[in-house]
Amino acid sequence: MRFSKSYIKTLKETPKEAETASHKLLLRASMIKKLTSGVYTYLPLGYKALKKVENIVREEMDRAGSQEILMPVLQPAELWKESGRWDVMGPLMMKLQDRNKRDFVLGPTHEEVVTDLIRNDISSYKALPLSLYQIQTKFRDEIRPRFGLMRGREFVMKDAYSFHATTESLDEEFLNMRDTYSRIFSRCGLKFRPVEADSGAIGGSGSQEFHVLADSGEDEIIYCDSCSYAANVETAVSRVEASPVEEFKNAELIDTPNVSKIDDIVQFLNIPYSKTVKAMMYRDMGNDQVYMVLMRGDYEVNETKLKNIVNAVEVALLTDEELEKHGLIKGFIGPYGIELGDIKVIADTAVTEINNHTAGGNKMDTHYINVNYGRDYKADIVADIKTVKVGETCERCGGKLHSARGIEVGHIFKLGDKYSKALNATFLDDKGESKVMLMGCYGIGVSRTLASAIEQNNDEFGIIWPTALAPYIVDVIPANVKNEEQVKVAEEIYEALLNDGIDSMIDDRDERPGFKFKDADLIGFPFKVVSGKRAGEGIVELKIRRTGETLEISKDDVVSTVRELMKKY
Ligand code: ATP
Ligand code: MG
Repeated sequence: MRFSKSYIKTLKETPKEAETASHKLLLRASMIKKLTSGVYTYLPLGYKALKKVENIVREEMDRAGSQEILMPVLQPAELWKESGRWDVMGPLMMKLQDRNKRDFVLGPTHEEVVTDLIRNDISSYKALPLSLYQIQTKFRDEIRPRFGLMRGREFVMKDAYSFHATTESLDEEFLNMRDTYSRIFSRCGLKFRPVEADSGAIGGSGSQEFHVLADSGEDEIIYCDSCSYAANVETAVSRVEASPVEEFKNAELIDTPNVSKIDDIVQFLNIPYSKTVKAMMYRDMGNDQVYMVLMRGDYEVNETKLKNIVNAVEVALLTDEELEKHGLIKGFIGPYGIELGDIKVIADTAVTEINNHTAGGNKMDTHYINVNYGRDYKADIVADIKTVKVGETCERCGGKLHSARGIEVGHIFKLGDKYSKALNATFLDDKGESKVMLMGCYGIGVSRTLASAIEQNNDEFGIIWPTALAPYIVDVIPANVKNEEQVKVAEEIYEALLNDGIDSMIDDRDERPGFKFKDADLIGFPFKVVSGKRAGEGIVELKIRRTGETLEISKDDVVSTVRELMKKY
């Protein structure tokens, strides 16, 4: 491509709305253009890079034995009602009606459509296992679309679905996909980590996410420094330091004037945090059930774990007004000495192991001391619902837990029979008995992967593309377009690169060299070839974007040198 003819409009200034490196650079380097919140046009450079990601994904999925299809974006509401997700997904779905007032949704994901396809087409175990995938635009009305391509309302996803007759077969495909994902993200030149994950609204058992490690990541990853344990903080677990063991004492109501926060109670009573319990009041936003959630004072409630335990799509803390309505006194709520009515109690496991803990007195400015689980109160559910803290002990190996920020670029699930059961996707096994199929689903955020690559590969001058994703590998720059010699050599090199199949540009604009170098660095070409002063001798400069190194080489060696360097960068 000739720069002079290209549709590339780089920006000097960083657009105000952009916060993260990838968002800023995608806009500045003329890769994408915003249409409206969370919706972007891919400009020629951005689209080329996107296709590079797509092709890596496609090659590896094909190699893994999955077959590419393309399902409709437009999906009838009936299917979603059948699976029960019309309500569960709620406002995340972009809904619309046709002229006959029939409801539709623009596909946020395709479990329903693919299961419908298979249930009507496959009836024998002989056709299983089967794996299908597509690369397609998805629509999700995200609460907060942000960071450019990271969290769009319209984005490109690779979604794959597998169908199985047995659990073993599903397990095998899950591992196959795990390996495939590792190959894909390695080929994209990313530093990533597979982590244990929550299954979210998609449901099912067994779920792993692939995270690109970057400070701007929206997710927190907990990992162990001495074994391979790594998990999204949403599901991470740890070994909790035990509370002090004591003889049970008698519960006693004491005055704690203005002492409502755990930090203050610990000071006021001079006790460790591990002897305190706080009560948090939550509401299931779907059915309005209210829960008293009990947590040891030094831990925070993990809302993802809580939602899973009570099977809620969304939970929220009660407002001051709602607390009042239930006769609860903010800052002094506790599980002992209270009439709970319809309120259910959920205790974190650590709470049940404390001897003689404090608890809100359920009267203004009072607390109980020496309260004991089992003797004084019981919970409807006891489960691990705490958020892991950095520095805690790994449950598996006793190592130390650390945290890092991650961007979720992929997610693989064992769905089991969740959708096949709801949608009645059955088959006849080898004994002629009808059985429900087992399913797996496997997603990659293709556009998010592109943005993640930039998060990990940039400097103050711009993008530093790994060659696997770079829109163009080489930018050939005649330093002075009025110098015939320099232009001739540059054109020759450009031609030779194209003949060798190396995607390249030539910056034939009549601009100062410094101006062209700036654009080249911003756009992130892995290599610049400058035809300048020594062009007459057949010598050019080859600059490596990642290292800043400059090599002086013969014009005839450019192609072979670039080929060699492409293996490295
Ligand atoms: P998140 O937790 O980030 O909202 P998710 O868990 O809802 O994502 P999945 O349903 O697992 O997403 O979708 C598969 C992949 O699609 C994700 O791993 C992610 O890479 C990508 N993805 C999801 N939502 C978006 C979005 N709004 N914009 C861009 N990519 C997305
Ligand atoms: Mg996910």
